[in-house]
Amino acid sequence: MSVMDIFETMEYGPAPEASSPALAWIKERQPFGLFINNQWTKPTSGRYLESVNPATGKSLAQVASGNSADVDTAVAAARRAFETWSQLAGHTRARYLYALARQIQKHARLLAVLESLDNGKSIRETRDLDIPLVARHFYYHAGWAQLMASELPGYQPIGVVGQIIPWNFPLLMLAWKIAPALAMGNTIVLKPARYTSLTALKFAEIVQEIGLPPGVVNVVTGEASRVGEALVRHPDVNKIAFTGSTDVGRSIRRATAGSGKKLSLELGGKSPFVVFDDADLDSVVEGVVDAIWFNQGQVCCAGSRLLIQENIEQLLIRKLRARMEKLRLGDPLDKAVDMGAIVSPVQLREIQRLVEQGVAEGAQKWQPSWACPTEGSFFPPTLFTHVSPASSIAQVEIFGPVVVAMSFRTPEEAVALANNTRYGLAASVWSDNINLALDIAPKIKAGSVWINCTNMFDASSGFGGYRESGFGREGGKEGLYEYVRPAWKTETVRPTAESILIAKDSTTEEEDEVSASDGTRFALPAIDRTPKLFIGGKQVRPDSGYSRDVYDVHGHRIGEVGEGNRKDIRNAVEAAHAARSWSAGTTHNRAQILYYIAENLASREDEFTRRIVQQTNRTYEDAFNEVQVTLSRLFSYAAWADKFEGIVHRPPMRGVVLAMPEPMGVIGVACPEPYPLLGFVSLVAPAIAMGNTVIVVPSQQSPLSATDCYQVFETSDLPSGVVNIVTGERDVLSQVLAEHDDVDAIWYFGSAEGSKRVEFASAGNMKRTWVSNGHERDWLDTVQGEGQEFLREATQMKNIWVPYGE
Ligand code: NDP
Repeated sequence: MSVMDIFETMEYGPAPEASSPALAWIKERQPFGLFINNQWTKPTSGRYLESVNPATGKSLAQVASGNSADVDTAVAAARRAFETWSQLAGHTRARYLYALARQIQKHARLLAVLESLDNGKSIRETRDLDIPLVARHFYYHAGWAQLMASELPGYQPIGVVGQIIPWNFPLLMLAWKIAPALAMGNTIVLKPARYTSLTALKFAEIVQEIGLPPGVVNVVTGEASRVGEALVRHPDVNKIAFTGSTDVGRSIRRATAGSGKKLSLELGGKSPFVVFDDADLDSVVEGVVDAIWFNQGQVCCAGSRLLIQENIEQLLIRKLRARMEKLRLGDPLDKAVDMGAIVSPVQLREIQRLVEQGVAEGAQKWQPSWACPTEGSFFPPTLFTHVSPASSIAQVEIFGPVVVAMSFRTPEEAVALANNTRYGLAASVWSDNINLALDIAPKIKAGSVWINCTNMFDASSGFGGYRESGFGREGGKEGLYEYVRPAWKTETVRPTAESILIAKDSTTEEEDEVSASDGTRFALPAIDRTPKLFIGGKQVRPDSGYSRDVYDVHGHRIGEVGEGNRKDIRNAVEAAHAARSWSAGTTHNRAQILYYIAENLASREDEFTRRIVQQTNRTYEDAFNEVQVTLSRLFSYAAWADKFEGIVHRPPMRGVVLAMPEPMGVIGVACPEPYPLLGFVSLVAPAIAMGNTVIVVPSQQSPLSATDCYQVFETSDLPSGVVNIVTGERDVLSQVLAEHDDVDAIWYFGSAEGSKRVEFASAGNMKRTWVSNGHERDWLDTVQGEGQEFLREATQMKNIWVPYGE
């Protein structure tokens, strides 16, 4: 190109980054072994897999193909290391994390080049985004290791953590997972993605260099079927942290159901990018470039659905096409390139297939006039217009550089369209009207919402999904809770002798007596008080038309309740949905109603006490104590209703991130057996205090304390449908709740077997679960029976990014 041409076109010339240091590093070490107990070991299988450079299609390295025997060895090493690592002072762990951060910075360029070679992403991105963020995660979490004792009192590390990461941000996903796990005192077995293991292996070398104790971090490379599945099923792994596709996330949910393993899933997305007509359109165009062509669109939170206000649609599409013509695609190691290669031919074929399907479904495809390189796996930036919201390209995660444009007229329509997928990972909202943007952000079901910006990430701010985008958060203080558990939970807790006193001489309700005219006294038949179900604020008959008997501990029949079934649960879910405006009310109002419930319950405390005695045969004093603790619990959640608030993060940018806990939505709750009143209220109160609506299955043996609450609720201004109660067989009804697609979370306090079934069934819509695994907690105890653990389960964090400045 002549100087004259350059002046004419203002094109950048090529600016290639040298690959030789990275290639030399690979050559010296390959074939790469497994990294277990700080040693490089040969895979048991003796097999190696090829790592290929997607930009050239040529082989880069041979990487060990691990199997379940290698996973066993790695887990055993991690278990041994846990004994000491978890006992170190927070300050000591902080120093190790700090050392990791420093060492990553020292090797930043090598890591950036390796990542580009192995994944195909542009060096501009690996150098300026991936690697600096990796270092930032280790620094940030060094701080949390230092502060753990003071900031998370009463919490302990979980143990050995299995971490499974994808290929789209290989080292960054490693950092998101390893840094908080180490900070909180866990040890790790990491499985990198099959296509992209090299930077994880360089990281393992860094682990050796800084002298992290053996076994604290282990890296087992290999295939999903041999390594990933073995890790998921391993009995000595205490937690699985996974990022990847929703389908695999679902299979992991099912595989871990009932195992007691803690689980966090960061899954797919189809994130909306919403543009209002008052937005700065030139900024919007650059925003779209970052949203969908960053990392070739292989980003879980890619803004792949462009929703444009109708009156500016044509103008924006014109501007966007002009910009697409100028995008540069090619050698990822060229610093003047915007887009690199697709990670593998398999992934490329999948993108091609979905794009062809989009065309076949009638959408209009547009691609720039320039051609892609013919060698390697490349796909051009692609824009679809005339897209129907229900078409596959508008619903399926393409995971490539393909954006689909649709239009809306009003803000309400924008929200409806934005929420019209099964996912809920992220969203961007573009408007110069901050009132409008901040009104829309909470209405979009997504874990992160970026206002006038997109794809912003920082260690200080949690990231994770709503709905089928998974659960759990990575980053921020909320991310730490994924790697700890309350200290009391490490052992199976059974109610103590003091907490359940079986009375020798029970107090029973005296029957009313009347005298006949001849003076004989006989018992007056009680007015029938068979409670029905409580749905939508009304007492309704069970659909089955059956009642079930309720017995006391001696087997005497003491009453009947409705026998709820699948249809009743469906009606209750519908009622709970209809009451969703509960979440939009003020927290002050919710607090007032909880106080009112307490007040109305207190006025009937004798009756509630006698009911507990009747059902459980405990002493009056003991039952009275349960009622008093219940009242205190209602007060606690009335107090929390307007105090469990978010935080404002200050990431390194001009702006703030508002981390707001939002209600889960509709929660299904299966109550524990002991403490028929307290167990019920301990679960319902935090859920509704945070703005959820609930369908509750009360204690199966002793449901009458819950059904006695109908009148309390009716007289406490609680809106209809906020609390729905379906009595019956707990495990049958919980199963229906767990399978229901319109239930957002399920809490189950019952048997280990029932917990397993609930977790398994929840995989349908990836609802968040909280199960007891057959362990009982002491509901009278304020540490075990109430507090922030409950509030966290009742909420999910939304992070709203608000940049400022002109
Ligand atoms: P997967 O979800 O299959 O893989 C992610 C990670 O999980 C990899 O390490 C993979 O191993 C491992 N894995 C796969 N199956 C299992 C299993 N049954 N048990 C345990 N571990 C398992 O993603 P793919 O790489 O196959 O990509 C497919 C699609 O997933 C993409 O097109 C995209 O839509 C989506 N995706 C979403 C990501 C996100 O961040 N949300 C990231 C990556 C992909 P291995 O590499 O050996 O197969």
